[in-house]
Amino acid sequence: MNIGFIGLGNMGGPMAANLARAGHVVTGFDMADVSVQGVTMAASAAEAATDQEVVITMLPNGRILRAVAAEIVPAMRQGAVFLDCSTVDVESARAVADQAVDASLLPLDAPVSGGVGGAQGGTLTFMVGGSEAAFGKAKDLFDVMGQKAVHCGPSGNGQAAKICNNMILGATMIVTCEAFALADKLGLDRQAMFDVVSTSSGYSWSMNAYCPAPGIGPQSPADNGYQPGFAADLMLKDLRLSQQAAEVADADTPMGEAALALYERFVEQEDGAGRDFSAMLPRFEKRGRG
Ligand code: NAD
Repeated sequence: MNIGFIGLGNMGGPMAANLARAGHVVTGFDMADVSVQGVTMAASAAEAATDQEVVITMLPNGRILRAVAAEIVPAMRQGAVFLDCSTVDVESARAVADQAVDASLLPLDAPVSGGVGGAQGGTLTFMVGGSEAAFGKAKDLFDVMGQKAVHCGPSGNGQAAKICNNMILGATMIVTCEAFALADKLGLDRQAMFDVVSTSSGYSWSMNAYCPAPGIGPQSPADNGYQPGFAADLMLKDLRLSQQAAEVADADTPMGEAALALYERFVEQEDGAGRDFSAMLPRFEKRGRG
């Protein structure tokens, strides 16, 4: 396929490289001066989007997505798929999709889970909102860039799935870290704690697959000085999106709100910026109730 790819950062770069490696003809654009193996760089986003069967965006936020969409939608050929893989607010995703439909394009919002490792290894999970027709046209590309694509319903539903998942993840990571710190103070051995919880009703991905305690459970960023991994800053971004969505939808999400407040403090006032989101454990270790 002829593909335009806009936003070739930590995630977009390896995703575009995988598409080129699989034999697709990829034309890329990024505001920064980057190069990606197998990708021909264009001089602008509009140029990268012109005459492509599919245009993929992988951008930092909804504001930038809206600005890029305003530039590329008029340049895209009718019937082309506009596949946005960024994590953005549901409202921006739906506004951009409406604009694309008005221009006879096939929009999909398809945020990902799996991080930079998943992007490099082609093992991402895509949560996809948009029409069946658009989903069908993009399916081969999801297979190259990822291992699973779930069609979640109409436009915006991919973003809705992503922020609900990450709200659960943020809250479970915090409570897993709290519980380790409490167990320490109660004199409970961390290995025993892991062995019990990982096979009992408190188990979760945060405990079982990404244990925040160094030297316990499978390899995780805790074993690497809490280098991300999944940075606390990105978790903060996603929790802001879930609270923003909850406000618009009038949903009561007190645990999401508490998780947002903690990650906000951790990243903006403590030492969380640039650290893995599981570095909440050393944060709790240091503290008492006061
Ligand atoms: P990044 O900052 O590495 O990449 C974003 C790229 O977009 C940069 O190269 C930047 O120069 C480019 N860009 C910004 N404005 C632009 C514009 N107007 N035109 C063209 N290019 C522009 O970020 P990332 O880690 O690759 O994340 C991208 C998206 O994926 C985000 O929405 C993020 O939330 C989501 N995400 C990231 C991860 C992760 O672990 N990094 C995991 C899941 C989802």
